[in-house]
Amino acid sequence: MTETTTKGAPERVKISCPGCGRHDWVTWPAGQGALHWKCFNCSKEFELEASSHH
Ligand SMILES: [Zn+2]
Repeated sequence: MTETTTKGAPERVKISCPGCGRHDWVTWPAGQGALHWKCFNCSKEFELEASSHH
């Protein structure tokens, strides 16, 4: 079996905006516990925390 996955590759994570509830997809760097993200819908900024995908 050949390992084709790249360690440290960012993953696509579905998030929901804490401000307006809008769902969006973000590129989350592997192993990163929190991600600074700005919602383009309500223009607020948040520190999103990694939750279920650990
Ligand atoms: Zn929002």
